[in-house]
Amino acid sequence: TKKETASLHETIEEVLSVVRHNLELDQIQVEKDFDPAVPLLVLDKDKMRQVFMNLIMNAKQAIGKDGWIRVETRFDPGRRQIRVAVRDNGCGIKPGDLPRIFDPFFTTKGTGEGTGLGLSVSYGIVKNHAGDILVESQVGEGSTFTVVLPVENEDE
Ligand code: ADP
Ligand code: MG
Repeated sequence: TKKETASLHETIEEVLSVVRHNLELDQIQVEKDFDPAVPLLVLDKDKMRQVFMNLIMNAKQAIGKDGWIRVETRFDPGRRQIRVAVRDNGCGIKPGDLPRIFDPFFTTKGTGEGTGLGLSVSYGIVKNHAGDILVESQVGEGSTFTVVLPVENEDE
């Protein structure tokens, strides 16, 4: 991997600029709430773009048409952590499916729509950055995927 000191916000913006038009076509509003205190991070930008692309496309597919996606960042200086929450008001995840969503090839989507690899690949990328992905979801209300990243990232 090729890690560099980079802006997480810029990385997320690059993903949003690619998908924005597609989201607009489905009447999906994108709201950003970026914490200006978030410091630069050591990250593999290509890989991290892939993570946010996967999370945002999952949110879009969970919504279908007409809804919102919020991307929030927060710096926790005490824990030396950054949290990026991708929230949607889509269909939500059944409690019985929750333990399996990070498994490779687990998908609830039809053939051609999903490979079931997005979250397992994303989880691997975030782990490679010494981070974690947390999920909260309510059927009929929506889901929040939170990417937690440590600020000091010594391993290359
Ligand atoms: P895929 O998108 O190809 O199905 P993923 O690994 O990205 O594979 O996601 C696995 C499964 O997790 C999805 O099929 C879906 O059931 C569930 N899922 C992931 N993100 C969301 C979300 N934002 N809202 C609802 N369900 C989700
Ligand atoms: Mg996916």
